[in-house]
This record gives sequence, structure tokens and C-alpha cells, in this order.
Amino acid sequence: MTPWPQARMRAANELLSVVLPAYNEEKNIRAMYGAVRSALSEEAIEFVFVDDGSSDGTADAVRGLREEGAPVRLVRFGRNFGHQAALFAGLERAHGSAIIMMDCDLQHPPDLLPCMTRAWRGGAKVVQMVRLKTEDAHLFKRVSSRLFYAVLNFLSEVPVQAAAADFQLLDRQVVDAVLQFKDRKPFVRGLISWLGFPVTRIEYTASARHAGVSGYSLRKMLRLSVQAITGLSSKPLQISFYMGLLSSAFCLAYALFAVIGYFKGLTIPGWTSVIIVVTFLGAVQLLSVGILGEYIARIYEQSRAVPRCVVVEADESIPECSSSFAAPYAPEFGNFAD
Ligand code: UDP
Ligand code: MG
Repeated sequence: MTPWPQARMRAANELLSVVLPAYNEEKNIRAMYGAVRSALSEEAIEFVFVDDGSSDGTADAVRGLREEGAPVRLVRFGRNFGHQAALFAGLERAHGSAIIMMDCDLQHPPDLLPCMTRAWRGGAKVVQMVRLKTEDAHLFKRVSSRLFYAVLNFLSEVPVQAAAADFQLLDRQVVDAVLQFKDRKPFVRGLISWLGFPVTRIEYTASARHAGVSGYSLRKMLRLSVQAITGLSSKPLQISFYMGLLSSAFCLAYALFAVIGYFKGLTIPGWTSVIIVVTFLGAVQLLSVGILGEYIARIYEQSRAVPRCVVVEADESIPECSSSFAAPYAPEFGNFAD
């Protein structure tokens, strides 16, 4: 076996999969296929188009390519389950040694695909395309994207590269690891970051959409943000625990202040006891919610079958001893028989 991360030799018939989630992309299917095919003309490729419940002729456009003998597979949802679910379904069905995920509207430039495959053959496990800017992107999209990554990275256990959407090449080993997750609502780029494989980044400028309109409504963007944060972090649940601790400390100090006021005769009758009861109950409630949150976070992680750790590299065997190193007994390390 070739040890990672050395450059890998190109095996005969090594298959590359291109996974393309498509929601109402009828007018882009053929252009997308042609552009990727010519960019990777030297490669054995399969296309996995995932029709995410489109209401236009997306599926027919893919079927048309198939009938012409193109190496294309169609995975079709009965309704719109969302971009991330489509990506995951595509990864599940891709057969390649490397899998490229990209949008089906030509915003992710196919000309860059050879750079990605070169990086992969050079030993990269994850090749992540980082968007410098998007031609014709409006202000709202740019600001909301920045805000999203700022909040996500504040809460997340692992950093998620800003502006690196789902334009990535993944080695088969990474895809197999991603597919271990049982998330019902996966946030694919977050799961990839979580796995901890080394990432090679390439910057690019995203083009304008080739045809059609964006399928990402504001509602879908908000849903994706919540999905991303809850998928990568249980910190929002833990925050109430720390708020509980903080308010307990505040309650204690305020109760002390109320008791001193009572003994100094500075309070009206009944105020001290009311204040103590109110602050005490508030603190106890917040603390209890926080503790519940901690347990719910653990149940949540367990139910998602989150792997304990991910082995990126492991030696299969120990190196054979050359005669100069072969000593029958090494006192500083102890004997195996000890
Ligand atoms: N997409 C999808 N399901 C959806 C919305 C979008 O599969 O519900 C696909 C879409 O066809 C495209 C990719 O996800 O291939 C990115 O979506 P889009 O271009 O609409 O988003 P934008 O680039 O405007 O953020
Ligand atoms: Mg787009």
C-alpha cells in the first residue's frame, strides 16, 4: 500500500466521481456536463446528478444525456430535501477513488478541476476551493455569509473555513469517513472539517450563474445556518449552564446585600424575602436547564453516532528490523515478556 501523504501513482481506470446537486437546473445540465467533460477529458469520470425534487425538466435533461451514452447517473428525490441532503445522497452513491462536489450552475469554474485532481494526485486528501469573490454577488449575500461564518466559528468545536462552500474534492477515505455520520440533516462541509483530514486550499473567483435563478431562498439559508450550528456545536445548550452559574453567583451576592439591608433597617418589610426567593428560583431554574442541556447534548451526540475519533493515518505494521538494530533485549524500554 502506498503510504499517505506521498504522491499517488495514477492507477489504470481510476474513476473520478462528480457529484452535482441540482434543483431546477434544467438549462444547466447539458452545459455543466460538457464543461466538466472537456476540463477532465483525460480522466475516467462518472457524473452523479442528484435531482432535489425539481419542478422543471432537470431529471429529463439528465435522462437525455444517459440515452446518448454519457457516463451519467440520476438520483432523484420525490420532493425538495435541500442541497446538503442532495450532496450526501450523491456521496453515498459515488463510486470514484476521488469525489468532486460542485454546484450545477457553473458558478464553480470547471477549468479549475485539473488543479484539484493534480493536488489530489500529489497526496491531498481534501482539496477545498476558497471563494475570493463572486462575480455579480449582491451586498446582502456577502454580508450574511461573513456573519454566518463568524457566528459558526465562535460556536463550533472545529474551525470551518469561511467562503469554502461545497466545491471540494474528497479522497475516497474522506468520503467513507463522512458517510459514517448518521445526521438526518447533515452540514457536509462542517463534517469534513470535523474529521480533521489535512486540507489543501485553492483560491478562486466564482462566476455568475449560467442560467436559471438561485434555489437558496432566505428561509433555506437560515435553515442551513441553524443546521450548521446545531450539527457542529452543543455550545448553545451549554451557554444556559454558564448563565445559571453566573446568575447563582449574582443571586448569592444580592441575597447578602438584601440581608445586610434588612438588619440595618433599610428595607421595607417583606422585600428581603421576596428578593431572595426570586433570585434563588431564577438561578436554580437556569442552572437546571443548563444541566439538562449538558445531558441532551450527550444524547444528541450519541444518537448521531458521532465517531469518537477519526484515524487519518496509521501504520499497518512495524518496520522490519535491519540486523544493526536487531537487539534481543533493550533494557531502557523493558522486555516484551516483562
Ligand atoms: N440546490 C439544491 N437544492 C436546493 C437548493 C439548491 O440541490 O434546495 C443546488 C443547486 O441546484 C446548485 C447548488 O445547490 O447546484 C447551489 O445552489 P444555488 O446556486 O441555488 O445557490 P447560490 O449559489 O445562489 O448560493
Ligand atoms: Mg449558485
